Amino acid sequence: MEPHALLLDDPDPTADPAAQVEPPPLPHAFGARVLIWKQDPSVKEIGARTAFLPGVVLAGPRDARIAPGEPGIAAVEPNAFGDFLVPPDTPQFDAVHTFAVVRQTLTMYQRSLSAAGAAIPLPWQWNSGADTSPLRVFPHGLPNVMNAFYSRAQACLRFGDFVPGGDGARVYTCRSFDIVAHETAHAVLDGLKPRWLLADAPPQTGGLHEAFGDLSAIFLALAQLDQCEALVAQTKARLHDKSFLADIAEQFGLALGSGAGLRNADNDLTLSQAGTQVHAISRVFTGAVYDVLADVFAYERDPEREDDAAVLHRVAAYLGGVLLRALVAAPDSAATYADVVNEMLRIVGADGRPPAYGGFIRNQFSRREVVEAGSGNAASLPGVRLAARVCDAPGARQDRSACCGTMQLPEYRHAARLPAGEAAAAGAVVGAVAGAAP
Ligand SMILES: [Zn+2]
Repeated sequence: MEPHALLLDDPDPTADPAAQVEPPPLPHAFGARVLIWKQDPSVKEIGARTAFLPGVVLAGPRDARIAPGEPGIAAVEPNAFGDFLVPPDTPQFDAVHTFAVVRQTLTMYQRSLSAAGAAIPLPWQWNSGADTSPLRVFPHGLPNVMNAFYSRAQACLRFGDFVPGGDGARVYTCRSFDIVAHETAHAVLDGLKPRWLLADAPPQTGGLHEAFGDLSAIFLALAQLDQCEALVAQTKARLHDKSFLADIAEQFGLALGSGAGLRNADNDLTLSQAGTQVHAISRVFTGAVYDVLADVFAYERDPEREDDAAVLHRVAAYLGGVLLRALVAAPDSAATYADVVNEMLRIVGADGRPPAYGGFIRNQFSRREVVEAGSGNAASLPGVRLAARVCDAPGARQDRSACCGTMQLPEYRHAARLPAGEAAAAGAVVGAVAGAAP
């Protein structure tokens, strides 16, 4: 008799009941394949790839939270399989790519809150019980404008396109994974902390908004396993080596004459070097979180047991979640870097992470002059808050001149308080935006 025949015929009532459990059903055929730039058109080793969006995606593409702006690019219809696979360098591709990256950014943060057991919804700023309207996305929403923005008043994201230097190939900001993730992050954070985007908030509060944009681009890249693998291969698992990850908006940066991305996340700036320039201040925070990511990844690596790319994917997902939860827990107005850092320390402690996690956060942010290092173990004890080190001067005003389009929109300013020169400049931005809108 063959052994397995004996097993099949065995009527033993003490057999493991788990063995008789029905296998889970296959998932319904929801979800769509999309073709997207997985980093930036200029990052050739990554290129355009298919990705899967596991939810209902309708013609447009659109879903309950994200919809195409109108008038805009003609709605893209799914194919017979419900997929949106259209060739690059077409308006339809741009519509699909932009939708997909906005969706992935929102999904990433929804997942991070779910994983933490935090029942925090991520509404758009205008959402209420009566208003569930989606975020509108205009991939070609600012012709001949070298910028992109999130507008609360227009409930939308708009992306510019331009020809660098007046000739050459047109650059579409919507094709940059980083720029789309960055602008979406402004929308996500504005839904949670509406006072943070106002121009009369302290400089560090503005810096948190810009930094969250850039860090969201980094965390979203690392939410894709193939990008983790590409990064590990490019850097031999050394996150401080030059890579596509720390260079944000590569093609845009090249068009502006920068050798690398628009901002380099792997920097050594400190708060006392940054002044009131929100863009510079944001780089301090972004750089510190990037350093913490590199530290935690190096700490968690164990190539004898687990693939580096899988570890990086897991570590980045956790730290992105810690960042979002810390921002949620920070004050609703005038939040400082030290507020957020202390919340990050509290969260990694409450999550039961190894003490090294808190040590990395404390070390990197004290090196950046954000917090005092504290002394010895006392600084790691639960409930101990680290003192802020370099603070905004009382009454300091934000200088948003080098920030993305969102931070420069006049809707976030209190016009009555603007000096005459700044009011005129704000008016010019309004005119340019109004004239450029489709
Ligand atoms: Zn921005």
